[in-house]
Amino acid sequence: MRHLAAHHYPNLVRRWQRVAPKAGLILREFAESGNHPLYSLASVPARHECPSVYLSAGIHGDEAAAPEALITWVEKNARWLRKFRALIFPCLNPWGLVNNSRLDIRGRDLNRCFNNPRVPQIRAHLKILGRAQFDLALMLHEDYDAKGLYIYEVAQKLPHWGEELLAAALPGMMPDTRKSIDGRRNRSGLVRRKITPDLMPDWPEAFVLHFSHATRTFTIETPSEFAMDERVAAHEAILSVALGKCLAAFSPASANRFPFPGGGD
Ligand SMILES: [Zn+2]
Repeated sequence: MRHLAAHHYPNLVRRWQRVAPKAGLILREFAESGNHPLYSLASVPARHECPSVYLSAGIHGDEAAAPEALITWVEKNARWLRKFRALIFPCLNPWGLVNNSRLDIRGRDLNRCFNNPRVPQIRAHLKILGRAQFDLALMLHEDYDAKGLYIYEVAQKLPHWGEELLAAALPGMMPDTRKSIDGRRNRSGLVRRKITPDLMPDWPEAFVLHFSHATRTFTIETPSEFAMDERVAAHEAILSVALGKCLAAFSPASANRFPFPGGGD
């Protein structure tokens, strides 16, 4: 599959509208950003005897393989996704996607605003999250400095899954082997460190998921200078393995029971 329209937001929305019923998802507009509607999708009716997953992409608009990979993967796995309770944010910065910009229309890095409820779309996003609990949260990103694939992993539970997630993308995408990434130690494509609320003054999305909502939180970073098809394929492979592991590890006794805003509850 060629990914030729990855910056075309209306096309992306049409694809989500088409796939949502097949995947048992309800699409809702929850805010707007730069004159574009923002959408979430939630499993409905909410099923409690399933693992719960949070998936998001496109908070940085110049990382086009991320929203493209998420919709492509859901199109291929729509029926299988019914085995999960899913909350999906398919593109969190549509103005950025259309304009190939990391920032939003007001020059904000939205992935540094998650402790700033004065930003309207962040406030709306946090409201949807509510008290939701997820077995797994995956945030899809790209990095133009990257020399390969790398993953930030923060988990409240062992064993770590990061190695298997990296391996899933082989041989199509090698891990980034730089010694450090953004000043943090990189171990063959894995960046793990303890996250505390005072680590950064301006929180990324992953902080909120880790602190309040998710047992396992991964930020997936593909190298945006590589070929689009390779980057999309790497994200897709990781989604498949991560959700597969989530399903295999799930037991109904440990199901997260919570009101699922945007879903059927
Ligand atoms: Zn990013």
